[in-house]
Amino acid sequence: MRVLLCAATTGYQVRAFDAAAEELGVDLQLATDRCHVLEDPWRDRAVAVRFHDPARSVEAVRRLAAERRIDGVLAVGDDPAVVAARAARALELPWHSREAAEAARQKLQSRRRLADAGLPVPEFGVWSAESRRRWEERLPVVVKPAALAGSRGVIRADTPAQLQEAVARVARILDTPELRARRTPEGERILVERFVPGREFAIEGAVDRGRFRPFAIFDKPDPLDGPFFEETIYVTPSRAPSADQQAILETVAAACRALGLEHGPVHAECRVNGEGIFMLEAAARPIGGLCARALRFEGPGGAVSSLEALLLGHACGLRRLEDWRREGQASGVMMIPIPAAGVFRGVDGTGEAEAVPGIESVEITARPDRQLLPLPEGATYLGFIFARGASPEAVEDALRTAHGRLRIRMDRPVPMAVTRP
Ligand code: ADP
Repeated sequence: MRVLLCAATTGYQVRAFDAAAEELGVDLQLATDRCHVLEDPWRDRAVAVRFHDPARSVEAVRRLAAERRIDGVLAVGDDPAVVAARAARALELPWHSREAAEAARQKLQSRRRLADAGLPVPEFGVWSAESRRRWEERLPVVVKPAALAGSRGVIRADTPAQLQEAVARVARILDTPELRARRTPEGERILVERFVPGREFAIEGAVDRGRFRPFAIFDKPDPLDGPFFEETIYVTPSRAPSADQQAILETVAAACRALGLEHGPVHAECRVNGEGIFMLEAAARPIGGLCARALRFEGPGGAVSSLEALLLGHACGLRRLEDWRREGQASGVMMIPIPAAGVFRGVDGTGEAEAVPGIESVEITARPDRQLLPLPEGATYLGFIFARGASPEAVEDALRTAHGRLRIRMDRPVPMAVTRP
């Protein structure tokens, strides 16, 4: 069996899929735009694609498929999910449709589709100077770039002055050279939405030929009230009342149908309050970064599986989702926030943090001596803390205690010299 994995990075998520492929005896065929930085063993095996040019990327995949049979596709990341969808259509393999992957990746299209399907979404629109009055009457609102991810550039505004400032700040983020280089007309747009108060949840699952199968609901126990929306702790199983959990899963399933997500992984986020369940996103890809390690599955004959192995097995028909369920223990991850802008020097206390009962590992992924930015400009975390335990409370406590033991060393950024003529 051979599975095509579309991935924009060659980092730990791809390595986790590689390990899963080995375990399952599946040949992993990587399609990436990072061939120039690849180390062995990928060098001779990767197909070079360009995620901003899906049409040409699919041609490259077609050429490959003429030589080697491909039995399934998978993707990590929003842009790769679109290429995977086109490749799957070309190769007649089951996966999310191209239209669905494209809609899921764009905040504006997603909102429209969910609203058209009658699902609760906050009032939303594209920012323009003319719309200012309208939004000033609807404060608090959230300002966000249409095409970024990971809460980058997502800012809450409570006053007219904050609204102006937030729009200007998002425009500056979109104007950085890194983002300008790959900007599309859609990517220039700034969206404004009414702020939805409430508790937030992340849902991991997959669609199997049109049927949504949930793997886990994660509580996000830290309040996410802005002005920026940093992800920190995820804990599963959820402590929400079971009626709420049921309603969340039904809403995610409806969102998958509304977007047209048909086959493959889904990572969704929603907010819940007295007015209903508001979908924030339903993405055509698995949870990002190292976070998948917080999920472990038990299957036939007491077998244990990672998320990657389950998805890989599903992609090529080796594993049936209904045979697997999340392990019995509670589990959680903390995405370690970047405390301030500066040059990252290192983290002390990881040993003390790992000694906290329930903590499985502390992984520092930021590279030393690099300049780091917190949200809303930044796009990374410092690292991840993983915990397992008898209850969600114990897991959350362990994560907080471990985080409290870390001493993050950062140097202040060197101010740029201003020279005057
Ligand atoms: P991204 O795809 O960049 O993560 P999202 O639109 O999912 O962007 O927003 C990131 C986070 O910002 C959400 O998880 C949520 O905490 C917060 N957020 C976004 N939109 C709203 C909103 N309308 N009301 C309240 N919180 C929001």
